[in-house]
Amino acid sequence: MKIIDLTMMIDEQTPVFPGDLKQEIKQVAAIEKDGWNEKRISFSSHFSTHIDAPFHMLKEGKKLTDYPLDRFIGDGVVIDARNNSELGVDYVKQNNPELSLYKIKENKSKSSFNEVKLNNLKSSLDNNRQNNLKLSLDNVRQNDIVFFYTGRTKKAGSEEFFKKNPTISKGLAQRLIDKKIKIVGLDSFTPDNAPFEIHKLFFKHDILIVENLVNLEKLIGKRFKCYILPLKIKDADGAPCRVIGVIDE
Ligand SMILES: [Zn+2]
Repeated sequence: MKIIDLTMMIDEQTPVFPGDLKQEIKQVAAIEKDGWNEKRISFSSHFSTHIDAPFHMLKEGKKLTDYPLDRFIGDGVVIDARNNSELGVDYVKQNNPELSLYKIKENKSKSSFNEVKLNNLKSSLDNNRQNNLKLSLDNVRQNDIVFFYTGRTKKAGSEEFFKKNPTISKGLAQRLIDKKIKIVGLDSFTPDNAPFEIHKLFFKHDILIVENLVNLEKLIGKRFKCYILPLKIKDADGAPCRVIGVIDE
């Protein structure tokens, strides 16, 4: 059994959603002076790795405490969605590093031989990528917890973290809704930007959203047991949580 921690570290550097109050971490007691160590920590309900409940954006939406604990435990899958600014059902996009080969074709190919070779390469890359995506989405089952690996939280702490964040397209959101997954998540601070249509679409279908995950690359292509344990805050619209993935090995 192997346990992968998918949770961001909470410290002074943990990034907060633009406009949110910054966390405060104060040492309020020290062994030398008081006989024990203690910190006082304050943060918003959408701080660090956290889960959103529908009540976050829907007036009549469910709150975290409306769900039984088994809602937060289930089979997890991670879909590789690196280098895509918008994650769509057809998210095979020009941003992939491998596809820079296309540019060679466009810019430099002079002989028809090269063109044929590169065309073959292009179509085999296309097929592979389509198949990979199809496989990933095909692997998604009802009640799954589906995470998208974008690599974004590796940039946490830098200005780049908040710039041109990857988003989930409406089409992909609809596919996940049709598949009746129970939780969606990603390693970025949000799956969409204002006016947050994708958030609302998931919430309307009772799908919860986990944000600011880390270490997802360790679980790409694996089916694992996922545990998401939100802080037990009354009427919570969201709460930081410890998220772990457990694989049999
Ligand atoms: Zn949130």
